[in-house]
Amino acid sequence: MTGPILVAGAGPTGLALALMVKRAGLDVAVYEAAPNVDVRPRAVMVHARVLEILDRMGLSGEFLEEGLIQPAIAFERSDGLRLAIDFRDLPTRFPCVLNLRQPDIERILTRALLEMGVRVHRGVAVEGFTQSTDRVQVKLRLADGGPQIIEAAWLIGCDGARSTIRTQLGAKFEGETLPIPYLLGEGQPAAKPAPDSVSTMLITAHGVISWLPFRDGSVRVAGPGSYTGTPGALQNADQPCLTKAEFLVEQSRLVADPDRRICHIDRTATYRVHARLASHWGDRRVWLAGDAAHVHPPAGGQALNLGISDAEAIALRLAGDLNFAPKFDSYEAERRAIAEATLAQVAMMPLVNALRDARTDAEVEALRSAFANMAIRLSHIATDYAASGPDRLGSTDTKVRQALQIGRRVDKRCGLVPEKAEAGCWTVADAPRTRLWMTPDRHVRRLQSHPNHGPGSAQ
Ligand SMILES: Cc1cc2nc3c(=O)[nH]c(=O)nc-3n(C[C@H](O)[C@H](O)[C@H](O)COP(=O)(O)OP(=O)(O)OC[C@H]3O[C@@H](n4cnc5c(N)ncnc54)[C@H](O)[C@@H]3O)c2cc1C
Repeated sequence: MTGPILVAGAGPTGLALALMVKRAGLDVAVYEAAPNVDVRPRAVMVHARVLEILDRMGLSGEFLEEGLIQPAIAFERSDGLRLAIDFRDLPTRFPCVLNLRQPDIERILTRALLEMGVRVHRGVAVEGFTQSTDRVQVKLRLADGGPQIIEAAWLIGCDGARSTIRTQLGAKFEGETLPIPYLLGEGQPAAKPAPDSVSTMLITAHGVISWLPFRDGSVRVAGPGSYTGTPGALQNADQPCLTKAEFLVEQSRLVADPDRRICHIDRTATYRVHARLASHWGDRRVWLAGDAAHVHPPAGGQALNLGISDAEAIALRLAGDLNFAPKFDSYEAERRAIAEATLAQVAMMPLVNALRDARTDAEVEALRSAFANMAIRLSHIATDYAASGPDRLGSTDTKVRQALQIGRRVDKRCGLVPEKAEAGCWTVADAPRTRLWMTPDRHVRRLQSHPNHGPGSAQ
């Protein structure tokens, strides 16, 4: 194998991947087409599984310091009825969701990468590739416009929703794009949020409006816009084409409570909401991750989190510490299943509509548990590669979660005893005849019945 692992795209997925493979001691190079950092308001929520991944990279402290820890996401009707997705009981070190702006996330990851000696090559686009069994020849377009060919061991396309690498792989991007633009505005609210304010989804006649507080006292208001421009302009609605004045007009239509509105706007953006999956995610030495492979509606703040989890799944294979490399076929099978289940789950409208229409106490109580059950799945801490349907995101039944099975994550409450004789092997404290091996993110990769074994000290 010759050359570095070449990462196309320095969004959250590419940056996290580069960090993980560099930390594993591998050679990595990152090329980013955009000359400047993208400061548009984009993703915000960091969920428990990604906080765990960041923790393994020594970065969770910085994220928690800069972000606003949220114990719950509330759903609020205009008559004041509130239900919540409550993260406080999740079996993880990080039972919360963290509100932190994407540009801040990218800044922390870029700095950590630089500290490891890896500089992002900005203004350099990956234009294409040819590959053989043991290498990839990657065609770059340099900042001065000149072409360059470099050789890499692997090429990972973290180049976003309009991925060049996906196109070059011949993959279709199947799914749908919603016909209306999604608006975002961030700034100072009319009324200072109470210290215990949590991210709130306002259920209104105009759809679900997100109200998300940040650590610095500012707030994001986001929701479906009413678009009156030309269809051509709508095609490019990912551009920051919404003026502050236009946002204020939209906001007064979307948000009834003046205290919830932003009055001093820092930044605005519009974007199109897509729900799409690449028809295939790679071939031999070229693979896709993050938005290049799947794009999601903003509900539940899942897209950025999925991208960083894809990055981890790739890094584990490239590092080879799981005897995975180069089993990339299992990468697509695993991560595609999770992306599909997430797309199905973030279609939250049936639940939101049921809350809007609920009239009796019994109806509200039934919905309360339905909302509560969303926490484990939005957090992605209990992913189960062996399950099907929404249970891939973790069963809401604790007994199912705690049952050991290859591909299922070992629940934190399951006591494990390290095997003295074999590094990386564990015995289950309350089932001492069972030995298991797991990935760093605690998914069982091998199970064995061990006839002559007694318990030690559980971890
Ligand atoms: C305006 C906007 C608002 C959004 N709001 C939300 C939200 O509220 N909630 C949410 O969950 N998600 C939101 N998203 C989506 C979220 O930002 C993405 O899911 C997330 O950025 C995905 O990360 P990524 O690294 O996979 O891709 P990206 O962040 O898109 O990064 C891809 C990078 O690749 C670079 N690139 C592209 N082509 C090439 C090439 N040929 N060579 C080299 N580099 C290349 C791009 O310049 C970019 O920097 C929003 C997106 C946009 C655009």
